[in-house]
This record gives sequence, C-alpha cells and structure tokens, in this order.
Amino acid sequence: MSRKIISLFVLLFVMNLAGCGKSGKGSRVALSERQIEVVTTTGMIGDMAVNVGGERVNVTALMGPGIDPHLYKASEGDVTALVKADIVFFNGLHLEGKMAEVLEKMSGRTKTVAVGEKIPVESLLSPPEFKGAHDPHIWFDVSLWLVALQAMRDGFMELDPEHEEIYRSNAAKYEAELVQLDNYIKEKTSELQEEMRVVITAHDAFNYFGKAYGFEVRGLQGISTASEAGTGDVQELASFIVERRIPAIFVESSIPVRTIEAVQAAVKAKNIEVKIGGELYSDALGNPETAEGNYIGMFRHNIDTIVNALSIKN
Ligand SMILES: [Zn+2]
Repeated sequence: MSRKIISLFVLLFVMNLAGCGKSGKGSRVALSERQIEVVTTTGMIGDMAVNVGGERVNVTALMGPGIDPHLYKASEGDVTALVKADIVFFNGLHLEGKMAEVLEKMSGRTKTVAVGEKIPVESLLSPPEFKGAHDPHIWFDVSLWLVALQAMRDGFMELDPEHEEIYRSNAAKYEAELVQLDNYIKEKTSELQEEMRVVITAHDAFNYFGKAYGFEVRGLQGISTASEAGTGDVQELASFIVERRIPAIFVESSIPVRTIEAVQAAVKAKNIEVKIGGELYSDALGNPETAEGNYIGMFRHNIDTIVNALSIKN
C-alpha cells in the first residue's frame, strides 16, 4: 500500500473513533470556554494564527523549518492532529499539492479555511509554466498577506463569536506590524540601484515579491519544486547572469543547495564569478528560536540578504 493510501485509511479510522463529536477534551467543554485547537499547514500561516488567536488558541503548524510544502505528505501524526482540530488553516492555490485529498476530506466535518483563496483573482499571478493555475506564493507580497489575515480573522470569529473582539483587536495589531514590514521592505529596496534589482533563486517563489517591490525574478525550477530543472534551464540562467553582470544568486532554505550551485558552476565555466548571496527563506520559516522563526523576521532577513548581496557590483 502506498503512503497516501495508508494516510487516508488512518484518517477514516480516526474519524470513526471520534464519532460525530470531537475527540478528547473538546467533547465536554464548550468551545468558547476552552482553548481552540488550530492546525495550519505552513509556518507562515501558523505564525499568523498565533498572532490573531493569541491566548485563545493552541497552534500546531505541520510544516516545520526547511520543509517544502509542494512535496509534503501528511504523516499519520498529522492526520490525527487534523482530526482533533477545531479549525484548519491552509494556503490553498495548490501550494499543498500532496495534501489536497486529506484537506478536502477534512472540510466536510471540520472548519477549514484556505487563506489564499480569499485573494481576488485579479491580484493573483498565473504564469504560463503553472498551466492555468495560480502562483501560490502569496505571502511574499505583504498587501496580499493582509487579505489572508482578514480571511483568518473572519474564520476565527465565525468559529468562536463570543470572543469576536479579541480576534478583531489582535488582527488589527498584527496588521499594523505588517504595514510596518511593508514600509521596511520598500525602504531597503530603495537602497539598490534599479538595474541591480534582480533576484535569482532555485524555484519561482518570489514572483509576487518581484511584482510588489520592483524586482526582476528568475527561478530555475518553476513554480512548484515537483519538476526538476533541466540542464538547458541552467545554461540559460547562466547566460543571463553573465550578460547582466549579476553579482549574486540565492539559495533557499527548503530547496537542496545543489540546484543553485549548478548555476554557479555554469557561470564559472564562462569565466565569471557569481556569489551565493546567502540563504533566503521561501516556503518555510526558520528555526523557532531564531529571528527568522516568524513571518516578519524571515521577510526582513530576506530583504536584508538580497539588498546586501546585490549592493556589490560584479
Ligand atoms: Zn514554492
């Protein structure tokens, strides 16, 4: 039996055990009188849930540091957590490609909110390489992440209307912090000469970032990491780097470093040096005890790393 089939089997089994009501402590105490069990897919969404839910919630983010959401499959432990959850937040827009089936099965019995799917379709990018689907990396445009924030706040308020005011005020406070972050990113960007605003990474996680903050973005692997880069892609990117005299390219925390090292080697074969400008966080947060362990910290790290590396002329 494949892992996916086992996961679905476990899901159905645990659902049966749980019966119609919720398992565990939730069965006797009313939701408004206890902490809400929240499960999220990515760390960025988990961090948002901690900020919006505050003391009302206990948050479990399934995808930890370095985890690639495009390829992630729910473990048996995840399925148990999902079944016990009062509310599940996920990105949607096919980010969690291999979890779609499990999340769909959940939505019939547990409140599930795809925060990315509340973003107006005209604000979404639909690059040709993603064959009719939208680019799911919405957290890299703060203005879009603010829409996701509203979707989450509304989800909490519908689930737990007795505490509506808490969610409203927490969300407003977090919104102010995100607006500050947005201003910081724009200020940092303005330190770079316009022709130096080029971000090259292993996969196309930064298209919304590029559009929102004025960077040209080149990725090697396409929107999802499910497809491997071919040697033709590597050569094309290497030529681009040489022509534009780009001083640095970037590795990503959730993508194997060899992908971008292949580009560096191809540039070197043309007798030009391109530096690895540092590690960017793309689809996962950093370790929880570090500054990059939350969304604002990871984004600040990214923009600082990008601007510092590209400030040096090749
Ligand atoms: Zn991605």
